[in-house]
Amino acid sequence: MSIPELKYTPIEEIPKIRDELRAGFASGKLRSIPYRKYLLTKLIYLIKDNLSRFEEAMAIDLGRPTLEARFLELVPTIGEVATQLKNIDKWTKPEKPPFSINFGPMRPVIRKEPKGTVLIIAPFNYPMWLTLGPLAGAIAAGNTVLVKPSESTKATSALMTELLEQHLDKDVVRMVNGAVPETTKILELQWDHILYTGNSRVAKIVATAAAKHLTPVTLELGGKSPVIVDPNVDLKLAAKRLMWGKVVNAGQTCVAPDYILVPKEFQDKFVQALKDVYEEFYPPEKPPSSPGAFARLIHQQAAARVAGLLEKTQGKIVFGGEVDIEKRYISPTVVRDVKGDDSLMSEEIFGPVLPVVPVDSIDDAIKFVNAREHPLALYVFSQDDKFKTKVFDNTQSGAACVNETVVHPGAEGLPFGGIGPSGYGYHTGKYSFDLFTHLRASLDNPSWIDWILSFRFPPYNEKKEAA
Ligand code: NAD
Repeated sequence: MSIPELKYTPIEEIPKIRDELRAGFASGKLRSIPYRKYLLTKLIYLIKDNLSRFEEAMAIDLGRPTLEARFLELVPTIGEVATQLKNIDKWTKPEKPPFSINFGPMRPVIRKEPKGTVLIIAPFNYPMWLTLGPLAGAIAAGNTVLVKPSESTKATSALMTELLEQHLDKDVVRMVNGAVPETTKILELQWDHILYTGNSRVAKIVATAAAKHLTPVTLELGGKSPVIVDPNVDLKLAAKRLMWGKVVNAGQTCVAPDYILVPKEFQDKFVQALKDVYEEFYPPEKPPSSPGAFARLIHQQAAARVAGLLEKTQGKIVFGGEVDIEKRYISPTVVRDVKGDDSLMSEEIFGPVLPVVPVDSIDDAIKFVNAREHPLALYVFSQDDKFKTKVFDNTQSGAACVNETVVHPGAEGLPFGGIGPSGYGYHTGKYSFDLFTHLRASLDNPSWIDWILSFRFPPYNEKKEAA
């Protein structure tokens, strides 16, 4: 079976689609937990039954090596839907607040209710995980959902559209495809929650549009995620995990290590370790330019942007630096002796280029990080607990990990979200369910309570005040 062609949704149909989703919500069919489970199960099978088509689609869109498509996208997406399915009974149960003598008799309860008709706007870099993952949370919570996948992943977005239309319920889930005009139309409409994942420029457009309707928004954004490396480290392992975090998906990962801070005197040794790993990852018989070895940038503009940053750098290229814009190819590249005002430090790189910034001390590294916007992730490589604690205690970031990169958004039970300019709100697992859930405070007061509480009713008088 081939990959379908991506067709943009006619703009005039968008309000009608939203109205149909609202009607789907009003129909009450999603009140049934078994029906939500049925849809989630179908979602799992529509992925499982089309694994090779998804692999093919992501190879077309991002040049994704098959293995990367599997462990970065297919396995985590199925896992995310399965988590919702496994926990839905528990998470949808009304919760009792802690007992209080004053209010306990009124039987207070927190009802877990859907927000209504919600919107998910997804980016290109993890086209399945960031689309179908949150979709699962929204369905589990009982919402009807409009999904707007990225127009840059034509093959994956077209395949998801075909399969969701075939296998899910059109009253519950709809896809709208398109670029800026289509998304602008979507954003004119009222939604009950918007989850936007992507860059901060567009996030401001989304938040402004949402504010007009007082719609709550969750923003999952990016930024420059720093790495601080201590010389007291398992050097080979650190170099491997860092290089992997940068080369996977050709650096187009929101939590990719963006730049590395190392003590000056350690830079030579560290850079040599990165070079050794590069040669191990890409032996002469399978260079990164060979098919299936290494992903490509999403489009030529993205490749040209990263190439532009590389062209202007004042740092020294240690290895890599090969650019073929037409083929959307930039080889894994390490640049050393990069300074704070370098082109490579001017924006999120979002490509396979890794600048190494030498600093005098750990305090300088912390100052360097704190002089910039709070990142989505911060990484520390060290075997010294005091070093780790010092960095964690003196910085802020969406997430902070030791001796590892990139994997934490997939870790079950951890919230995934930014802070400040890297976004607000959390998703994955229970956090996705919560994001699309309204906590409806409720109580049911028995009539006998008024034996005790009838003093509250007017007329107020001195006798009541004295009681
Ligand atoms: P993108 O270009 O695919 O855009 C994302 C979405 O925004 C698309 O659906 C697109 O149609 C829509 N869009 C684009 N311009 C718009 C406009 N003017 N008005 C309304 N909608 C518009 O992807 P991107 O934004 O380049 O994604 C990369 C960024 O996303 C990086 O900064 C990355 O760090 C971040 N990101 C964050 C996370 C996270 O979970 N925090 C995950 C992945 C990516």
